[in-house]
This record gives sequence, structure tokens and C-alpha cells, in this order.
Amino acid sequence: MAISTLEELSEHITLTEDEKNWDKNGDNTLPLFISDHIIPLLSNPSIRRQFVPSAKENEDNECTLDPQMEEKHQNVIRLVHRYRNRAAFLTTDRCFAYCRHCFRRRFSGSEIGPASDKEISDAAIYISKHPEIKEVLLTGGDMFTLSDERIDFMLSEFRKHCPGVILRLCTRAVAVYPERFTDNLMSIIRKHLREGAPFYLMTQFNHPAELTDDAVKAVAAFVDMGIPAMNQSVLLKGVNDDAGTLTELSEKLLLSRIKPYYLFQGDPVRGTAHLRTSVSDGLEIEKELRKRLSGLGMPQYTIDLPKGGGKVILTHSYLICSDESTGKYIFETPEGGSRTYPE
Ligand SMILES: *Cc1c(COP(=O)(O)O)cnc(C)c1O
Ligand code: SF4
Repeated sequence: MAISTLEELSEHITLTEDEKNWDKNGDNTLPLFISDHIIPLLSNPSIRRQFVPSAKENEDNECTLDPQMEEKHQNVIRLVHRYRNRAAFLTTDRCFAYCRHCFRRRFSGSEIGPASDKEISDAAIYISKHPEIKEVLLTGGDMFTLSDERIDFMLSEFRKHCPGVILRLCTRAVAVYPERFTDNLMSIIRKHLREGAPFYLMTQFNHPAELTDDAVKAVAAFVDMGIPAMNQSVLLKGVNDDAGTLTELSEKLLLSRIKPYYLFQGDPVRGTAHLRTSVSDGLEIEKELRKRLSGLGMPQYTIDLPKGGGKVILTHSYLICSDESTGKYIFETPEGGSRTYPE
């Protein structure tokens, strides 16, 4: 059984003062909910920090709940069309476990509920009328909290109205609730896979301990079908903010046929300050990762700029200077040496 109260949680782990006092004022924006798959993993401090709430969430009042101003970019309800060629459809606010670092706190677990038939059809029709949209992210919340029937309906609608659009299936469920991926669900996905543009599976694994055998098996069911898997991690203080942990994560992801795609700087969302690292620490980690990882294993360290500014990639700059008079560039090498290069 999943856990949704501190009382239930205290039957499994001994709560700290910060954890006990999380809901003192009863005004939390993100509910406590932890799937039974995650409960035995809570003995790992890096997993615990991601799912067990803390009173620190309430001490952080500086930031807004919607730094990306996604609400302003919704042309159709639940559809965020912020980039010209791709859009995000917020299928539902529900998740199998709520991550304390969630960047979509204004929405996740908010009782808005799953999209209605009409909202799904309206989104698919909007996309069909905007041929510049090449990819749609089916996200939330977690799309796989929808019933098999609703997933079937949603995929049918998108395939009917915009078969040429790539669908990104965005989910944390492979990590937190792998038993969701039953034969029946996978056969629904297989049915729609052949009808149009490819599907991509977008996962969120933040720590190597999340790659349990069951999680890896759930992802493999997609990859075996021909659906590529990409991982988006969040850089989290006390969870994965060191090059060793992230190297191990990337190596494990590659062995599980998942390409490390993004490593996100935590957005300045209210309630998450204690889980964020500084950008300068992030850049140091990125530099170290580039030394340790192959190109295949290297995620892009990315900031999602506030007010809908969009994503930008951050990387240590290896260009030391360029000399206009001689037409030469001077570069730092990853190992700390230097080289000149002609224009
Ligand atoms: C991140 C994001 C996307 C996808 O961006 P990519 O860089 O292509 O992964 C699309 N729409 C919205 C609103 C997003 O936040
Ligand atoms: S699964 Fe995604 S949407 Fe749900 S709580 Fe975690 S980060 Fe937020």
C-alpha cells in the first residue's frame, strides 16, 4: 500500500524533527505520497530526501510556484506551447510518488485531476492546426497514472489528428512504480507505436539506487519495442551533487539502454531551496563529468530560465581567448593543458 500520511510513514522509518513538522500549518502545496515500490528504498538517504517531506519546504517563501510562467503560455487548457516546434500536454496532476523537488508544484497533486476527453481532443486538434509543432510531450504529473483506457484514448486522439508528430512519453513511473507497466498497457502502446511518428520514453532517474531490477525491466520493455529512452535528472543537494554519484548514474543508465539527456539545475520553485545546489557548484560538477564520461554518457547541464525564457545549456568554457591579430584561438584541454587552434 502506498503511503500518504506522516503517521503511516513513521511505521517504516524514524522521522526527524524536520520531517515530523512538515505539515504543521497544513498549508503545503505538494502532498505526501510515496509508492510501495519506493518504501523499502527509503533507507537510502538519497532516496529519502527526494520523497520524504521536510519542514524546510515551508521556510522557503522567496520563490514563486510557477517560475517558468507556464500558465501564461497555455493557449489551450493544459497545453504549454512555449517553444515554436514543440509543446507539453499536462495529461494529469497525479503522480505515483511526489518528488519534493518538483518544479511543477503549482500543478502536481493539485486536485485538478486527469484531462477530460474534450481537453485531450482539443489539444490534439490545436496541434494539428499548428504544423510547426513536431514533438509533443505527454507529461503532468505522470501520464501513466491515467487508466489503460484513457491512455488508449489519448494516444488514439493524437494519432488521429497529428500522426506525424513525435510523442514523448514522460514518466517517473518506471523509477517509482514499475509494476504499472503491465502486458495490457504495453500492448496498447505497441498498437499505437506503428501508426505514426516515433515515441520516445523520457525518464527521470536521479540516483543510481533508483535503477532497481524492476525499473530497468520496465524501461527495457519500451526499448525492446523500438522506443528510445532518454533520462532527465535534476541536480539535487544531498542526493546526487557529486561527480562520483552522477558518473555511476550515467554508467548504469547506459548499461540499461537509457541515454543521459539533461541534468537540470533545480528551478527556483518555492519550497525547494534546501534541495538546490549553486550554479557554480553545478558547473564544477559538469566539468568533472566531462572528464569522466563518454560523449554517450554525458548529460547536458541545463537551466530552464525564469519567466519562460527557455532552456539554456551550461558548460565549462574551454575557450581561453581568441587573438584577432594572429587569427588564433587558445583552448584549455579537459586535463588542464592548453592548445592553440587556427581560425
Ligand atoms: C522542456 C520543455 C520542452 C522540451 O524541450 P527540449 O529541450 O526539446 O527537451 C517543451 N516544452 C516545454 C514547455 C518545456 O518546458
Ligand atoms: S514525477 Fe514529475 S511531476 Fe510528479 S512530483 Fe515528481 S517531478 Fe513532479
